Amino acid sequence: MSKLNIIKEGDPVLRKKADKVAKITPEIKQLIFDMGKSMKKAKGIGLAAPQVGKSIQLCLINTENGPLALINPKIVWKSLRKDIEEEGCLSCPDVFGLVKRSKGIKVKFLDENGKIKKFKAKGLFARVIQHEVDHLNGILILDKFVPKGSFKKKK
Ligand code: ZN
Repeated sequence: MSKLNIIKEGDPVLRKKADKVAKITPEIKQLIFDMGKSMKKAKGIGLAAPQVGKSIQLCLINTENGPLALINPKIVWKSLRKDIEEEGCLSCPDVFGLVKRSKGIKVKFLDENGKIKKFKAKGLFARVIQHEVDHLNGILILDKFVPKGSFKKKK
């Protein structure tokens, strides 16, 4: 069973720039596994390590093939075309708002085996990656709502 708690907004760990992963240790692999379980349990479509209190450059994206781990991810290209969609965040429960993001991106990262990978994503997939990479830089959706600061509360 996963013992990871999801950290809520207000905790300083969510506002720190996360450290690069220097080495993919068994502990990192275990963390990836545990985060996958937490993400599923919380019905999230993405989860970044700072959200479970680990300030490292690691995030998970839920895909149809299960959780995909991105280690030290870098968005190396963003489309100029953007769109605005409603977003929520497991760390900001019940708050939803409109966020403007690039429609397409290219992301470079290390996989769980330390291999360099790169792919292009668009639509919701691109949006989730941008959201999770923001977490690794201490940025929350609260900073990005358009119009500035507007959001709604949901139960
Ligand atoms: Zn989030």
